Amino acid sequence: MPETIFSKILRGEIPCHKVYEDQHVLAFLDIFPLSHGHTLVIPKEPAATIDQLSDEASAAIGRVLPRMTRAVLAATGAKACNILQNNGADAHQAVMHVHFHIIPKFVGEVPAGQGAGLGIGWKAGKLEGNAGVALAREIGARVQ
Ligand code: 5GP
Repeated sequence: MPETIFSKILRGEIPCHKVYEDQHVLAFLDIFPLSHGHTLVIPKEPAATIDQLSDEASAAIGRVLPRMTRAVLAATGAKACNILQNNGADAHQAVMHVHFHIIPKFVGEVPAGQGAGLGIGWKAGKLEGNAGVALAREIGARVQ
């Protein structure tokens, strides 16, 4: 597990705008927000990507994410949001410590200097029946 900027935040060596903390989880404001209220929720466990995260840390994150989301929506007045979780540089992960983005989405005019939220380019394919049967079986067989 490489040392990251989030390791330093977790150790209190660099500051953050903390939103929430418990035994397993820290949530703080993103320093380069895509929109007003953009918040990061991270496990204290040092895992680079989500496939490396323990069940215990995953459960802790899962317990707080909905609560964090409700708080972000209530505080910002946003009616919608994206939860984003990148794994690997090819998938736009810049900080190699697991983190969940809570990104409020605003429609219409946003105040100067604030973003509207996450923009998604979603170029979907089509899952054909037979390929789906085989693929679901392959993935399912590897769930541990
Ligand atoms: P990723 O692309 O890895 O999913 O996103 C990493 C996020 O961490 C980015 O949105 C970036 O703005 C945020 N970030 C990077 N360095 C810092 C920092 O020092 N403090 C805070 N609060 N956020 C950071």
